[in-house]
Amino acid sequence: MIDLRTPGEVDAMRPAGRFVASVLEATREAATPGTNLLELDALAHRMITAARAESCYIDYHPSFGAMPFGKVICTSVNDAVLHGLPFDYRLQKGDLLSLDFAAKVDGWVADSALSIVVGGDETAEDRALIDACEQALAAGIAAAQPGGRIGDISAAIGDVARAAGYAVNLQFGGHGVGTEMHGDPHIANDGRAGRGFPLRPGLVIAIEPWLMQSTDEIYTDADGWTIKSADGSRAAHVEHTVAITPEGPLVLTARG
Ligand code: MG
Repeated sequence: MIDLRTPGEVDAMRPAGRFVASVLEATREAATPGTNLLELDALAHRMITAARAESCYIDYHPSFGAMPFGKVICTSVNDAVLHGLPFDYRLQKGDLLSLDFAAKVDGWVADSALSIVVGGDETAEDRALIDACEQALAAGIAAAQPGGRIGDISAAIGDVARAAGYAVNLQFGGHGVGTEMHGDPHIANDGRAGRGFPLRPGLVIAIEPWLMQSTDEIYTDADGWTIKSADGSRAAHVEHTVAITPEGPLVLTARG
């Protein structure tokens, strides 16, 4: 079931998008050397409470999770790439941190993610990995045009990743966003242009490329949630919630 939103509904999703962007900005700023991942989760939790928003993660318990997530933000460090369960760990200068956050405001969900190197002390390899992810996201958003198809987005992401020398894992990808965090259609991070569901105005989707330095294989950590690279190489993940409008893609989770 793929829902198309009216222009009024897309407008009603803007506060959720702005809130998610604000939490990612605040947690990114707080993610300095010495900050504990549990402090980032607590900060996001306080912002949810203050905004009377609703966490999409805390009770989230899909088939691939060992238990309800129990936290409100995903913190994936170094070889962790997706669904990083916050734990008692103090960030160190040079850590590659991905923050993924989704929340519901006024009944509408927004979902977004970013990757940084903590303390700004980044290697050329980490910068290239994050750049490729961000360029893949930008290409995917640019391809999210009315009249196109889901495959246009997938192909745009995959082309950037492969041109940058990274393999693409297809086990997790983008998804429809609405009154729930995950809906149809699935948006693979590689594929063929011109295929798949039509990109009609009113379609709202999360586009989320993620890449690992030197593998396309993953495993689930003993915590039951955190997805890590099979070879221990570092990983990055970026995401925006995007509405297809008659004028083109509208990024609902754009950060200042
Ligand atoms: Mg997300």
